[in-house]
Amino acid sequence: MKQINKNVIVVGAGPVGLLCALQLAKNGIPVTVIEAEPELTIDLRAGTFHPPTLEMLDPLGVTNAMMEIGIQVPRWQSRDLEEGLIVEWDMGVLANDTKYPFRLHLEQHRLTPILFKMLQSYPHAEVFFSHPLLELTQTDDEVSLLIGSQPENVLFTANWVIGADGGKSIVRKACDIEFEGYTWPERYSVMSTTFDLAPFGYADNAYMSDPVQWVAFFRMPDVAPPGLWRMTVPVDSSISDEEVLTPQYANQVFKRALNGKLQQDVPIVHQSVYRVHQRVAKQFRKHRVLLAGDSAHVNNPLGGFGLNSGIHDAMSLTEKLAKVINEDANTEILDLYERQRKSVNLQYVQEFSINNKKQLEEKDPKNRQDRFAYLRKMNSNQDSRREYLLNSSMINSIQSANRIT
Ligand SMILES: Cc1cc2nc3c(=O)[nH]c(=O)nc-3n(C[C@H](O)[C@H](O)[C@H](O)COP(=O)(O)OP(=O)(O)OC[C@H]3O[C@@H](n4cnc5c(N)ncnc54)[C@H](O)[C@@H]3O)c2cc1C
Repeated sequence: MKQINKNVIVVGAGPVGLLCALQLAKNGIPVTVIEAEPELTIDLRAGTFHPPTLEMLDPLGVTNAMMEIGIQVPRWQSRDLEEGLIVEWDMGVLANDTKYPFRLHLEQHRLTPILFKMLQSYPHAEVFFSHPLLELTQTDDEVSLLIGSQPENVLFTANWVIGADGGKSIVRKACDIEFEGYTWPERYSVMSTTFDLAPFGYADNAYMSDPVQWVAFFRMPDVAPPGLWRMTVPVDSSISDEEVLTPQYANQVFKRALNGKLQQDVPIVHQSVYRVHQRVAKQFRKHRVLLAGDSAHVNNPLGGFGLNSGIHDAMSLTEKLAKVINEDANTEILDLYERQRKSVNLQYVQEFSINNKKQLEEKDPKNRQDRFAYLRKMNSNQDSRREYLLNSSMINSIQSANRIT
């Protein structure tokens, strides 16, 4: 079997893996990405980018490229099925906190080609598709990776490996790292339509509470304006995947979400159904192997924290790894990566996404009214609105991570 030596290997050409590779390549570090699939994947996944993420991607030129095709969302709504609009949050109040006081909507599968194209401009970066990682072991000096390939498997060795291979990460499993947490009993369904919800008073992003079936609404750019409206909803365990994936089910959900204001069926463009977890890896580092993105943590999509926090991992990790490789910094700096990113994931991403879910599905009428009163109070003056939005836009989570030493 052929054995090839590499400096850094990134497992997974998802957004987090490609970004890690791009940052390392920009720092002059030879990097190899291996991806199991034959090409970049396309599916309905993350699509909201928060201000700190846009700031981090700015120096790479990625933010500009995203803004050319994304939808800027400066106002988003907290709604309720029965009560209608509760609060419209104006992110303009963050103008002194960030250069980007808005959310940017862009499909995840339209970010990865941007990253991939930029990566291709570095001669010391390479991406191998149809190269699944099969096994990984490490010694004090190097990591060995057995990789599926045609006509025969190959053995790569590397000084450093970044596992960016998603929630089912083989890298994490090969390192015997526990993925602590739980899986929610209900599945989530994502569906999109060309039917325009703006005339019904919806902002481009809205979270609607309902004790029976909450809804998260997003207008996504798709291939051209005016884009698509996407809805994410929880699905009762009594309904089969087959039934969820029918246009009839999607239309029933749309009609319910619009509370009787929509009579006709609407065209359904995409549908998917998936399981949701709240899990964080016990370790983000095992000697020469580091985890980033979904391989290190997964959460429900309420608040749009999953991919954003993966991007924050990628930036934090590659900054530190570049110091180790280029400046001979002590490798303990990589433990700082774990301390920073694991703790903010537990404190912010897990806690806020779980809390967002609990609030949207709250059944007790008094608790629901208390929540509406709280949201209105937070929006009633500039200071409290800013405080609320600093959390929901992840600015506080980044500042908190930077304070950890
Ligand atoms: C079905 C689904 C729906 C989601 N919806 C939302 C949403 O609505 N909102 C939201 O904020 N977040 C959502 N997420 C989460 C979000 O998509 C992730 O946070 C994001 O994809 C993380 O990026 P990543 O690069 O870490 O992992 P991924 O995007 O999963 O990329 C991992 C890559 O590794 C590759 N890979 C896997 N195993 C191997 C191997 N053995 N060898 C080589 N390559 C391998 C995969 O093919 C893939 O390309 C969703 C996730 C899923 C799974």
